[in-house]
Amino acid sequence: MSDVPKTHPRYLSLTLRDKIVEGVEQGITSIHGLIAHGRGEAFDYLIGEVTQPFAIEAIHAAAAMLRLSNHPVISVNGNVAALAPEALIELGQVLNAPLEVNIFHTETGREKKIREHLLKHGAPDVLMPTTEAQLSYIDSNRKFVHPEGIFRADVVFVPLEDGDRCEALRKMGKDVVTVDLNPMSRTAKQASITIVDNVVRALPLLCEEIRKLSAADMEMPTRKDYDNEAVLKSALQHISRSGNGN
Ligand code: ATP
Ligand code: MG
Repeated sequence: MSDVPKTHPRYLSLTLRDKIVEGVEQGITSIHGLIAHGRGEAFDYLIGEVTQPFAIEAIHAAAAMLRLSNHPVISVNGNVAALAPEALIELGQVLNAPLEVNIFHTETGREKKIREHLLKHGAPDVLMPTTEAQLSYIDSNRKFVHPEGIFRADVVFVPLEDGDRCEALRKMGKDVVTVDLNPMSRTAKQASITIVDNVVRALPLLCEEIRKLSAADMEMPTRKDYDNEAVLKSALQHISRSGNGN
């Protein structure tokens, strides 16, 4: 890790860069993941690098959807594994949901390295892609899934997702909860619920919200109360206002 002083105004952003670079060096993150991270950074800059009300609204809806699902599964790629392994594992614990590795670029051994990385951070188990179960409507490597994981899931949590797979999962009748800093991406538009926030900020908030719902056994918002399109519109409005110094 480079020596970023905590007083640096871009401390969090620089720390995340270090984590992604480390992920590439460890063979967890694809080199292409650096580009995806850069795109995320640009949107985070425009969003103000804090969790905004449109993200909080989506987090509340996502917590309820995941809590009410019968078989939620958490899909893990090389970027999120490098950025937030502990928070992913915590989400798996609060939901009692499996983590499953699913990546686009299949450099040799990367899937296995992601699994080992998560196990090292305390994951009880990590499902791996198989050739026994395949998603329809998709041709890339991401179609290979685990029969007891994504294949059977009713709700899939897929942070930093690629639009193609999000579309395939939706066509298969699954709900998708995503975290994506770009409110204009195909993923953001196609997901059932899009949390427009940095995954490192959103994950702990999502875990906390699910815990609250579980403890209070409170009435959960129904899907009818939530409008993803309207939430994405608020995010875009916020971004366009940020150029005016608001
Ligand atoms: P799509 O395929 O959905 O149209 P894309 O091709 O533009 O999206 P991908 O490379 O497939 O982008 O996915 C990366 C996405 O993840 C980008 O939209 C980027 O903004 C987002 N992203 C990158 N880093 C983070 C992060 N730390 N937190 C949340 N989102 C992030
Ligand atoms: Mg894409």
